[in-house]
Formats: sequence, C-alpha cells, structure tokens
Amino acid sequence: MNIVYIGLGSNQGDKIRNLNDALAAMRSISDINIKKTSSLYISEPWGNLDQPDFINQVIEIETVLAPRELLHYLQNIEIKMGRQRIEKWGPRLIDLDILLYGGEELNTPELTIPHPYMRERLFVLLPLQEINAELIFPGDGAKIEEVLIRALVREGNQKIERIQGSPADTFC
Ligand code: ADP
Ligand code: MG
Repeated sequence: MNIVYIGLGSNQGDKIRNLNDALAAMRSISDINIKKTSSLYISEPWGNLDQPDFINQVIEIETVLAPRELLHYLQNIEIKMGRQRIEKWGPRLIDLDILLYGGEELNTPELTIPHPYMRERLFVLLPLQEINAELIFPGDGAKIEEVLIRALVREGNQKIERIQGSPADTFC
C-alpha cells in the first residue's frame, strides 16, 4: 500500500460541488481508499491571475495503483467531469494533481513527483499540513512545517482563507 497525497482544485461552476463529485468518483474506485480529507481553502489564482478564485483541498489516500495508473484514473475523472481547456494554469472545473507518492521521486515527461510547484503553493501546503503535520518531503527530507514557513516568507502575499465548517473528517 502506498500513501499518496492528491490536490484538488476548481475555479469554475459550482466549485464545492465539483470537489465533492471528484471525491465521490475517487471513492467509487476500489483501488483507491480515501483516508483523510482537509478543509476547503479559497485562494486567488496562481500563475494566470485573470480568472476566478479557486477552491482547493488536499486528501490522503491509500492505493496499490502505480503512479501512472493513478494519474490515468485521475485524468479520466477530470475528463468525465467535463474538463475541456487544457490550458496551463488556466480556469478549470476540476484539477487533480498527484502531490506526493510515498517517498518516491519521479521525473518523466508525463509525471513529476513530488508535484513541481507544491513547495510554492500555500493552497497545497496549508491543507497538507492540516492533514499531516509530521510530513517529510522526499529528497531533502524537509519537514512540512519548514517548507510552509519558507513559502509564507516568500509568498506571504498569496491570499488564502480556510472555509469554516468545511469537512475535515477522517474516513477509515
Ligand atoms: P497544473 O496542474 O500544473 O495546473 P495541468 O493539470 O494542466 O497543470 O497539467 C496537466 C499535465 O501535467 C498532465 O498532462 C500530466 O501529465 C502532467 N503532470 C506532471 N506531473 C503531474 C502530477 N504530479 N500530477 C498531475 N499531473 C502531472
Ligand atoms: Mg493538474
């Protein structure tokens, strides 16, 4: 079993519903076992600023799927949910990224793990720390807390807010 962290994001349509639909789609895959779900966070767009705010969440799953198999399942969910414009950092109904896959590091044209921008993105680091404050990054062995503090110093102007009362429950 591999412990994997997945980042979910949406900035079009009914964003919270889109995240919930993506979670439901993942729950229906027998090889994916959702263990933890973070609160929802609302943040200003990153990269391309001329688009609506995002709602983001991070989840922890357990899976026997290999990284590429998992990516294909996630891409299938994105496509089934109607994601059309594959514009980098552009608006999207749903974006599902593999953030961390156990302690593995992978660098192929199709898949980079850890996710290449995750150390810069507060909307990834804050929900990630919420569900696993003890997390250690592969490679340099950095602690999530250190990575988060560095990002806050560098990118403290990123606007982000936790949505009160959003689910932070644990599925076992
Ligand atoms: P982003 O998530 O950076 O905004 P996209 O979702 O549009 O960008 O990028 C999609 C492409 O990113 C996919 O074709 C996929 O092959 C590639 N990719 C590379 N690494 C990852 C990863 N860790 N998780 C998800 N997709 C990845
Ligand atoms: Mg993506």
